[in-house]
Formats: sequence, structure tokens, C-alpha cells
Amino acid sequence: MSGERLITSLTNDTVKAVRALHMRKEREQSGRFLAEGLKFIGEALDQGRAPRLLLVGQDARPHPLLDRARSETLKAGGEVVAVTHPILAKISRKENPQTVLGVFDQAYTDLDAIDPTTAPAWVALEQVRDPGNLGTIIRTADAAGAGGVILIGDCCDPFSTEAVRATMGSVFAVQIARASVEDFLIWRARWPGSVIGTRLDATHGYRDAPVRAPALILMGNEQAGLTDRLAAACDLNVKIPMRGRADSLNLAIATGVMLYAVTEKS
Ligand code: SAM
Repeated sequence: MSGERLITSLTNDTVKAVRALHMRKEREQSGRFLAEGLKFIGEALDQGRAPRLLLVGQDARPHPLLDRARSETLKAGGEVVAVTHPILAKISRKENPQTVLGVFDQAYTDLDAIDPTTAPAWVALEQVRDPGNLGTIIRTADAAGAGGVILIGDCCDPFSTEAVRATMGSVFAVQIARASVEDFLIWRARWPGSVIGTRLDATHGYRDAPVRAPALILMGNEQAGLTDRLAAACDLNVKIPMRGRADSLNLAIATGVMLYAVTEKS
């Protein structure tokens, strides 16, 4: 579009800065992350989150949402630049990249700023390590009407490109908080509803849990499961039955089962 700066060089400083957002250290230092595609940008705009930088491919087709993204980016003080296809491909690390990319500010909610009563359920994840799992859980939490996801201890980054892709835009829709185990335990003591842990050695079935809303569901690490320390901080630990030969469910799948079981009870 006329008036937009056109970047054609792969070594341009803006391009280098956006590519660097694939690295956790750079994301943490800049407090920014990359989201790809018009759907994501539409979700962000609907949540009042305009991109800091909107990169529009030279061959992007006209679309009312793209016009809105351009105008809201500029209104919020961000920049809109036109880029070539090779630049989009380089940034996205894909041969067929999305034609619109946005760079956004990361938004973590302070643990103490969470109002548990604003949603029937919340999810807390202990040391989640797989970005695909984390993104899927954020998406599922949004779909089930949960308020957000609390990351306990050393977790993977919810703002990595892989995690953000797996959220399908829900990264903008739910609250994301992080806490050490100690801070989480102090905060949990004030939780007004049920705190439900998930463990393979639990004796209660997941449907038997008496649930007082808002429910806080604790999920464990992909390898080690929920630690004894966090399991002991729960009102109740439950198990989803394993009827075949598999000894456990994938973390994101188990979270989905728990979220729907709990929200349909409350
Ligand atoms: N080897 C691990 C263990 O012993 O817990 C398996 C961890 S599992 C892949 C990851 C997380 O998903 C668990 O910590 C738990 O939160 C949840 N999960 C998976 N299958 C479950 C089940 N059948 N019942 C309850 N929670 C389950």
C-alpha cells in the first residue's frame, strides 16, 4: 500500500529483529513475540491488542480485516511495513508463509491480579515442557471457558512461535500467569473454590470429584507427572481411567478432559 515502507533486504535491521524473536532470550529481553496470519491478528484486535509492528506481504490480498489491522496498528503507535515473500518465508521459516505477520507485546497477568471468580475453571501447569502442549492447553482453556493458565516453575515459553501457533489465537483470549512453586502455594491458600490435582496414582475418578467453583485444576509435567508437593496442596487428586494399554494420556488431552468435566459440573 502506498506510503508504507517497503523492506526488500533480508539483512534489514527490522527483519533481523523479528527473526530474533524465535529465540527465547530475545523474546524475554524485548518483551515481544511473533504471531502469524490474519486470523491471529483479528483475535488480537478483538481483545484490544494492536501489533507493535505489522508486516504485510507485497502480494497480500486486500481484506477488510487487513485494513482494520493497518489502521489499528497505526492508531496505537505501531508501524506497518510491506515486505517481500522471501522475507516472510525467512521470518516464518516456512516455504509458504502467512502473508501477514504481527509483532505483539507479551502480556502476563500478575498472580495477585487474577480474580478467580471471573471464570468457572482455571488451569495450573507444573513444569510444562512441550510448546505444542502448552499452546493446545491455552486453546482448550479458552474453548472450555476457563479464565487462564498459570505456569508453575520452569515451564516452556507460551510466547514461542510454536506455542503461539498451537493456540490458534487463544493466546490473546485467556490470562497467562507464572509463578515459582513457593509463590504458587502461598497464592493457592487463598483460592476460593476446589483445587483438583491429576495423578495416575489417584484413587478418585475424575468424575467423582466434588467441585466447588471456581475450580483450579493442577496438571503435571509430561515426564515426571505432578510432584508430591503440589499434589499435597490439592483438595483432591483424581485419575482419568486408562482402559487400554496406554499408561497415561497426553498432557493437553488430559487437561481437555478435566476442563470439560469440571466446567460441565459447575
Ligand atoms: N509418567 C507421568 C506420571 O507418572 O504422571 C505421566 C505424566 S502425563 C503424560 C502428564 C500429565 O497429564 C500428568 O501429570 C497428569 O496431570 C495428566 N494425566 C495424564 N494422564 C492422566 C490420567 N489418566 N489421569 C489423570 N491425569 C493424567
